[in-house]
Amino acid sequence: MIRWIVLTGLLGGSLLPAQEVGSVLPPWSEGVLDIHQINTGKGNSTLFVLPDGTSLLLDAGAGSRPESPRVLPARPDASRTPGDWIARYVKRVLAFRGEPVLDYALLTHFHDDHMGYPFPNSKVGKGGYLLTGITEVGEAVPIRKLLDRGWPDYAYPTPLRDAMVENYRAFVKWQAANRGLQAERFVAGRKDQVVLQRNAAKYPNFEIRNVLVNTEVWTGVADTTRQQFPRLEDLQPADYPVENQCSLGFRLSYGKFDYGSFGDIPGKVREGGFAWEDMEQAVAKAVGPLEAVVLNHHGNRDSMTAGYLAGVRPQVLIDPVWSADHPGHDVLDRIYSTRIYPGPRDVFATNMSAANRAVIGPLLDRLQSSQGHILIRVAPGGDSFRVVILDDSSESMKVTAVHGPYVSR
Ligand SMILES: [Zn+2]
Repeated sequence: MIRWIVLTGLLGGSLLPAQEVGSVLPPWSEGVLDIHQINTGKGNSTLFVLPDGTSLLLDAGAGSRPESPRVLPARPDASRTPGDWIARYVKRVLAFRGEPVLDYALLTHFHDDHMGYPFPNSKVGKGGYLLTGITEVGEAVPIRKLLDRGWPDYAYPTPLRDAMVENYRAFVKWQAANRGLQAERFVAGRKDQVVLQRNAAKYPNFEIRNVLVNTEVWTGVADTTRQQFPRLEDLQPADYPVENQCSLGFRLSYGKFDYGSFGDIPGKVREGGFAWEDMEQAVAKAVGPLEAVVLNHHGNRDSMTAGYLAGVRPQVLIDPVWSADHPGHDVLDRIYSTRIYPGPRDVFATNMSAANRAVIGPLLDRLQSSQGHILIRVAPGGDSFRVVILDDSSESMKVTAVHGPYVSR
């Protein structure tokens, strides 16, 4: 009994800064792992503060059609751009660093809701490029190392020459020449490309494993990988992997805590498509069970297959929503199915559209949260974590709900 109380006391948060509903989120502290799913209503962005204070931003979206009725309203509001809101969020969270710095920034793939669409009225940066999404964040907060799926030639599977990628490349070039940014291509299978920068020796049970990029997937054994798609020379150009299938993703492990984020990979094969288009199955085989996942492709209808869910069996699922078709109705059915995998699970969404509420109906009432930034706060060592919902109607960082503790398995 005593042991149980002590354990509960530890899991209950004595190792974590107290976070209480209605109060401002206590800042990150040494040994804690914080994962913020930032809600702008216009695309994905995740800020990680690793146990030694190393910072990492995964994506900074600003979708191309912000006024479309399908797209969620801007959060906190439309007075600033999504990139500006993200940059300000990053600066607040990283204030403990003195002058905030992103040790790493990663782009899962080259879509507007992940990297930012350059608008005719976007502000112009120091190097002449337009400020939107990742370029707007990187202008405000220096990026030390930037990893994407295309550097240096941006030519897989065919040359990427649209205005969005050209604008981004101009940003990368100028930042590399003038601000010390180091660009690299993300390499599947490695566990030494994204590492703790401040005190790695103190956290030997922390690891970021590169799982996939450009349809090359880690096998789960040492650093070895395999190609999920046939060679390009054996495919018709119409059957080349599409942008979502080329997403990069990683598994983050901290002791028993495992988390996965894999961009917009699909699991469903397109009608008339090929079996190898199922990127999710290959990922699930490699990574095994995870405590928490971000829904692939925002929970769109082509994602989160039964095979994938049965492989990763998450306790916590996070849906970064920006459109009325996130999540798909049958996707949510699968996620809640205890036939696919047993045990409890909690699902959190950053937003929910009225249209999707009308279509999906009561199943959406099962969501633990459907508005707000979503913070996974992992206790030192990784044995337990909480999910903290933060008010996204202002920059107050006020806690609106606390879920857990969850025990890492
Ligand atoms: Zn997307």
